[in-house]
Amino acid sequence: MVQREFDIAVVGGGHAGVEAAYIAAQFDLSVAIITDPSVVISSTPCNPAIGGVGKGQVVREIDALGGLMGKLADLSAIQCRTLNESKGYAVQSTRFQVDKEAYSKNAIDQLSEIDSIRLVSARVVKVNRLKTAGFLLELDDNSDLQVKSLILATGTFSRGITHLGDLVDSGGRFADFSSPSLGQLFPEVKLKTVRFKTGTPPRVASPGVDLKGAIEQKSDSSSLNFHYAHNPSDRFMGQVSCYKLETNSRTLDIIRDNRERSPLFNGQIEGIGPRYCPSIEDKAYRYPEKNIHNVFLEPEGIDGKTFYPNGLSTSLPAEVQRDFISSISGLAQAKIAHYGYAVEYDVIETTQLKPTLEHKDVAALFFAGQINGTSGYEEAAGQGIVAGINAALKVLGRPEFTVDRVRSYIGVMIDDLVTAAKDEPYRLFTARAENRLFIREDNVINRIGPCRLRLELDLPVDNYIKGFLEQYELLFGCIKSYQLSVTRDKGLISSYKIVGNCDGLRLSEAIRQSDLDIIPFLAGFFLSKGIEVARPVVRALAISIKYEGYIKRSERAKGRLEQLGVKKINWQILIEAENISFECKQRIQREKPQTFLQLQRINGIRPATLAYVAGLL
Ligand SMILES: Cc1cc2nc3c(=O)[nH]c(=O)nc-3n(C[C@H](O)[C@H](O)[C@H](O)COP(=O)(O)OP(=O)(O)OC[C@H]3O[C@@H](n4cnc5c(N)ncnc54)[C@H](O)[C@@H]3O)c2cc1C
Repeated sequence: MVQREFDIAVVGGGHAGVEAAYIAAQFDLSVAIITDPSVVISSTPCNPAIGGVGKGQVVREIDALGGLMGKLADLSAIQCRTLNESKGYAVQSTRFQVDKEAYSKNAIDQLSEIDSIRLVSARVVKVNRLKTAGFLLELDDNSDLQVKSLILATGTFSRGITHLGDLVDSGGRFADFSSPSLGQLFPEVKLKTVRFKTGTPPRVASPGVDLKGAIEQKSDSSSLNFHYAHNPSDRFMGQVSCYKLETNSRTLDIIRDNRERSPLFNGQIEGIGPRYCPSIEDKAYRYPEKNIHNVFLEPEGIDGKTFYPNGLSTSLPAEVQRDFISSISGLAQAKIAHYGYAVEYDVIETTQLKPTLEHKDVAALFFAGQINGTSGYEEAAGQGIVAGINAALKVLGRPEFTVDRVRSYIGVMIDDLVTAAKDEPYRLFTARAENRLFIREDNVINRIGPCRLRLELDLPVDNYIKGFLEQYELLFGCIKSYQLSVTRDKGLISSYKIVGNCDGLRLSEAIRQSDLDIIPFLAGFFLSKGIEVARPVVRALAISIKYEGYIKRSERAKGRLEQLGVKKINWQILIEAENISFECKQRIQREKPQTFLQLQRINGIRPATLAYVAGLL
């Protein structure tokens, strides 16, 4: 007989749902992923890339917590890069372009290996609260399913409406289904919602694409895999290149001439879109003097059949999309495989949620992913893992689990979500984190590995993580005690000799002052002492030591921020300042804050902006 009772049900097989189910099953509970069969598991409806600035850190945090995204990204990667390479190790992030079909297939393979996870192909049409506890879910095949904890991860599908020119259709994605509104899904519960929108570019078929004049970006063999237990630079698929093209005055003229036909600008779309991810229409109308915009052609798969033209998100009519695509040098003969479109959808107002992502008034009901008003696969997966853990703890009657913002980007995101209502789709940026010099990619195992989940929640701790931490602790002490005799070139260290414990420069001080590349420098030191150290450990040690002083300073600055509340500010000066983002300036102009505390309280003002203004006071 088909099983009809589960400990946990996850509605939605996107990045949030999959991550929630994968972690919840690690608590030895039965988990159903109920997902509409029209959408593949872990699909990438927009850019098929995992990671990026701020997001690469989230993928590694998920990985250190025992999640899936890092493994899937490594297994499916077809183009690897380290972003912010020129800006120093502390702010570097990994971004992998993935083969979208391989990514979904790898997710299904990983989930199928777990006996306690069941994939239920159906649509949930109604959720009833049970008198005892838990929920009864009604499915569109007229069956139902009873669960103790429920995680809703329905992405852009709640009352989704797509727009392609004047072609308006219901659907969470183009030509797909639309999920009932949250009011219809939960008739007994009052849930506050907001309407958001997002968009995607047309996909370009590769026959006809001429890449002769394009700038090629090759895959970087030195970028490090996301999953800690994978050999850092192993690649599991062939590697391909991305290509940089540009728009021109003809492209932008076509877009400007069709302003009245853009659903974004003719009043057809009411939902609020992300200002940080502008469509090509936004760029054309907001910057009338600018005609050259970068377009990155990113292959969607190893077969190279289609490209994702990053930078050309649009919902203009199909014929306008054809015209402006063919105006771009290299794409004159290219055909469009799928047209770009925009989607409007309902999201829950997340101030109704606890930091565990459980609803404040409905016990055992959790929300994760784009339904919480975020945008992006990594943000969705990061919430999925927190909701999955807490849904499991709820069933087991154990204390709640939260991740604080001091320790992780996942913590920053969830704190931002539950403390203030959002007026646009939320995406993680490094500027949202107060201590971004601490929450880096390299030290994720130190920050997350030993935290409550795997040790305090009695989940098995991987030997790799144990070994990493042991080696790190041991060598950290050793670096502090060793001393070197150094040679300097124009004041900067150019070579060194170990002098043991007599008068010399401490090794840790040498790393801070070194003009050499600190990672090979430290690796060379260990080699000279005959100590074998794993590459990721050397990396974490070198970067942690290099930035120790900055981190302490930024902690002091944070303390100062808290005392600044009463100080007066001049908002007119701030909206002219170079160091403040366009979005923050818009918010400052709207709210006209008079004191620093008022500025702090404006929804969406970034910690980096606060730090900058604090420096002026
Ligand atoms: C057009 C478009 C453009 C986007 N552009 C960007 C972008 O530029 N940058 C970016 O970072 N992100 C973008 N995204 C967002 C990104 O795709 C999502 O943030 C991410 O996939 C969200 O993951 P999720 O798990 O929350 O939901 P989704 O991946 O949307 O998954 C939702 C799942 O829920 C299932 N489902 C929904 N309702 C029901 C129901 N009633 N019963 C059963 N199953 C149900 C669906 O079948 C699906 O499997 C875009 C998405 C779309 C659709």
